[in-house]
Amino acid sequence: MWRASVLTLFPEMFPGPLGVSLAGKALAQNIWALDVRDIREHGIGKHRSVDDTPSGGGPGMVMRADVAAAAIDAVRRDESAARPLIYLSPKGAPLTQARVRDLSTGTGAILFCGRFEGLDERVIASRAMEEISIGDFVLAGGEVAAMALIEACVRLIPGVMGAEGSKIEESFEGGLLEYPHYTRPQSFEGTEIPPVLTSGDHGEIARWRKSEAERLTRSRRPDLWAPYESRSRSARTPGYRTKRPPDGRKP
Ligand code: SAH
Repeated sequence: MWRASVLTLFPEMFPGPLGVSLAGKALAQNIWALDVRDIREHGIGKHRSVDDTPSGGGPGMVMRADVAAAAIDAVRRDESAARPLIYLSPKGAPLTQARVRDLSTGTGAILFCGRFEGLDERVIASRAMEEISIGDFVLAGGEVAAMALIEACVRLIPGVMGAEGSKIEESFEGGLLEYPHYTRPQSFEGTEIPPVLTSGDHGEIARWRKSEAERLTRSRRPDLWAPYESRSRSARTPGYRTKRPPDGRKP
């Protein structure tokens, strides 16, 4: 079973949004599991202290390496196969759908949620934590980031979502943003559904959707468009094709 272990100073934030809708239903059906651990249980002294002032001065507080390490080691102690250990951090590698897909096909993840100014660098190194960011902005803590990552993974686990097909055509899957959607009513404030979508011509619909996906990606996300375009250009180059085995599989 896919299992997320979350290390946090605010366990009461969970399951939160992960407990409702399809993810929540799948959680209740044991299609995936959520294990939330309070970092403070490993805090130091009578006050269970987890943070201290930054070495070198400056504002805020830093989470202690010894406390974090104890919390991580406690999760790993009862672990048979090692799951990826992730520290949610604005300094991490940006999370992508490819990494989400990869994580969702594994056995789960251990997610460490930072607070204050973040975590002592030494424990990130000593426990070989993978640092992942959910975007170029700063949250108050790693909990919402962990929820975002878990939700993205869980919806890809077989049996969680209804229509399996809806996962293939989505944004990012082919390196493009998804085409726009429409549904009834036929006319909304004077704007009609694009006629091709109600034509019943599935070939035309597929072509329209592809060209809309390309148009959106080109105008909104040049960072996605450039690699997509160079991939489709090399796919059209005959020299590239001949490198493929005769059965047409990609090399
Ligand atoms: N001083 C840090 C920010 C600390 S924010 C810096 O400038 O890099 C406190 C915690 O929130 C972090 O330890 C991290 O766990 C979480 N966090 C904040 N922004 C995040 C983001 N974009 N992605 C993932 N986690 C984030």
